[in-house]
Amino acid sequence: MPVYEFRCPADCGRFEVRHPMALVPSAESCPSCAAESPRMIAAVGLSRSGSAVHRAMDQAALSASEPEVVRGSPGRARNSPVTTDPRHRKLPAP
Ligand SMILES: [Zn+2]
Repeated sequence: MPVYEFRCPADCGRFEVRHPMALVPSAESCPSCAAESPRMIAAVGLSRSGSAVHRAMDQAALSASEPEVVRGSPGRARNSPVTTDPRHRKLPAP
């Protein structure tokens, strides 16, 4: 579970709480004064973009949500003969 950072509106400062990504609240009670503390937006992951491993992970995650459009099957080029049997030329074209 990732760690999320919250900031108390009183002078208690920042604190961290672990939450599942799907259930992370926008605010959490301060552990010191129980004040409603908004979640902070952290700049996590901005410095990791140079790593080849993280680039591959980002590319894999991107392909799940924005896959490349494939317009044909790979392999044999169009208009190449399927068969070399001369009797097949008499058959109707598909
Ligand atoms: Zn507080």
